[in-house]
Amino acid sequence: MESCIFCKIIAGDISSEKAHHENDTIVSFPDYHPVRPGHTLVVPAKHHQWFWELPDDIADDLFKVARKLARELKEKTVADYIQLSIVGKDVPHVHIHLIPRKFDDTQSLM
Ligand SMILES: [Zn+2]
Repeated sequence: MESCIFCKIIAGDISSEKAHHENDTIVSFPDYHPVRPGHTLVVPAKHHQWFWELPDDIADDLFKVARKLARELKEKTVADYIQLSIVGKDVPHVHIHLIPRKFDDTQSLM
């Protein structure tokens, strides 16, 4: 989708040096406005707005990659847990937020 900022990042039209192609269908990159250090987005390479619109194979792949990245992120950031949220309203391209959290952080997030 031409006007979609995530599609531009995935296509390399916007320099997002840390955008990482996990495989043919899934891309990850740091959130531009991280709410916690390590805040990462996981997105399908192909444009879809809502997660329920995803074909089964892409949805499966998205969650598989999100789980792998959550495990890595938890270790890397020494987080107690990784918060996961999916909205799709701010940027209309399905994306999973992975947010490293501590049990005692008091931030209320999304
Ligand atoms: Zn898009």
